[in-house]
Amino acid sequence: MLGQMMQAPLLISSLIAHAGRYHAEAEILSVNTGGGTEQTTWGGVEQNARRLASALSGLGLGPQARCATIAWNNRRHLEIYFGVSGGGFVCHTINPRLFPEQLVYIINHAEDEVLFIDSSFVPLVAAIRDKLTTLKHVVLLEASVGEAAKTLPGIIAYDDLIGDGEPGYAWPDMDEETASSLCYTSGTTGNPKGVLFSHRSTVLHSFAANLPDSIGFSAMDVVLPVVPMFHVNAWGTPYACAMVGARMVLPGPGLDGASLVALIDTHRVSIALGVPTIWLGLLGHAEAAGSNLETLKRTVVGGSACPPSMIETFRERYGVDTVHAWGMTEMSPLGTINTPLAKHLELPAEALHSLRENQGRPPWGVELSIVDADGVPLPHDGETQGELLVRGPYILEAYFHSTPGETLQDGWFNTGDVATIDPDGYLTIRDRSKDIIKSGGEWISSVELEGIAIAHPALADAAVIGAQHAKWDERPVLIAVLAEGQTASEEDILSVYEGKIARWQVPDRVVFTDALPRNATGKVLKRNLRDKFGDVLLA
Ligand code: AMP
Repeated sequence: MLGQMMQAPLLISSLIAHAGRYHAEAEILSVNTGGGTEQTTWGGVEQNARRLASALSGLGLGPQARCATIAWNNRRHLEIYFGVSGGGFVCHTINPRLFPEQLVYIINHAEDEVLFIDSSFVPLVAAIRDKLTTLKHVVLLEASVGEAAKTLPGIIAYDDLIGDGEPGYAWPDMDEETASSLCYTSGTTGNPKGVLFSHRSTVLHSFAANLPDSIGFSAMDVVLPVVPMFHVNAWGTPYACAMVGARMVLPGPGLDGASLVALIDTHRVSIALGVPTIWLGLLGHAEAAGSNLETLKRTVVGGSACPPSMIETFRERYGVDTVHAWGMTEMSPLGTINTPLAKHLELPAEALHSLRENQGRPPWGVELSIVDADGVPLPHDGETQGELLVRGPYILEAYFHSTPGETLQDGWFNTGDVATIDPDGYLTIRDRSKDIIKSGGEWISSVELEGIAIAHPALADAAVIGAQHAKWDERPVLIAVLAEGQTASEEDILSVYEGKIARWQVPDRVVFTDALPRNATGKVLKRNLRDKFGDVLLA
């Protein structure tokens, strides 16, 4: 017997239709690429999204035609998210920090037909335009094309394009499993791989993000996604905010501490989301500018491990709750999020604070498992570490254009992370499996060593690698970047580890360098560091 409820597919258009219908006046503040701000509302975004979907149909695109973006977090980009997917096309967000060869590879691999770009990226796209074999239209996210037409002949202005669109366009009906958006993982080796999200996975992920023990956006919030809209759909923030009618502040290209503090204070931001490095800049500036970040209630930090000292500074100095989250592109991306359970409220303050440092527990829709090298499940005792596997309705089954079945391991996706899971499901990421340090049969977490090192006041940045060792195979070496104007000896830096970890885990050496190499999503390229410093203990 089937249930007798209405059939309504879970579509991205339902999110924007809801925001337009019930939250039409909720404001969206957007920083323009050329400077200055503009204001719109969910009602305005919805109207333009309809116009865009209708204009794209007018260009003669077929169903699921890929429409790519190389753009900052701004109002037009938000309209594209909903107009493209809502219209039955696929929104392919591209990271501008990729190397030009990688951009060419992914645009051709995705078979992008339309490319929306911010004016900052005109030179980047002009330089590779000839190599983009499937591309039919380039659209500039401005009112008019101006100078861009000189280097990109035929470029269309976004406002002209949607000017021809129908504000009364009706969102098409489609199967909820239809592809809605595409994101390539930057991968440190090999070609980037495409993760193709569906309408259903996106709507379910939005529900999961909006649960009260998860990120839990509300119509009362002003949300600042510092995480770029080209990095796993800004962690799904635009969709989740539309679902509840949260107000948004879209920061444009300026993600430095001063710009972010000004946006938070001027526009009364209550929740901000981003990677740890962004917050280092922000905290440095807030202190100098004397801001109390008055309205900020929560920061959601993920993408790489959040140093405990950052959580503490936000809490003690600003009264801001830092919610540490872990995820990956293949998971839409939310995997776990650190919010407490009722029983934790009885804990002494210090124990509660230390519980909030790990990557948290899964929301509904994510199941976690850890296994040994032979794939045998390991206990969730908070101590045994193993390869982390995940499964659920918003987790990838196969990469774009790859054969289904070749990615999963007995129905689970192998994250490539090494972790422990405690009996309540709290996850601690120890390392990427290829970065964990194997010292004489014992494993040392580079993530843990980095989190401790960064609290040293003389350090601006820190990474730990496994360096080759004649006796122990590998030993940890700390690669340290001094903060401006600071000096420190190796011994002084290593003193941060005193009393925090076992003696044998303390790095053997500190090597000072000017800056850490990072990939397009801001993750430290450990392989490059190992190539450069991997033999310092052999001499
Ligand atoms: P990406 O798909 O580019 O977002 O990368 C996903 C990877 O980033 C994960 O597999 C983790 O290795 C790492 N990562 C993300 N969030 C965290 C976190 N909170 N702590 C430690 N590692 C993280």
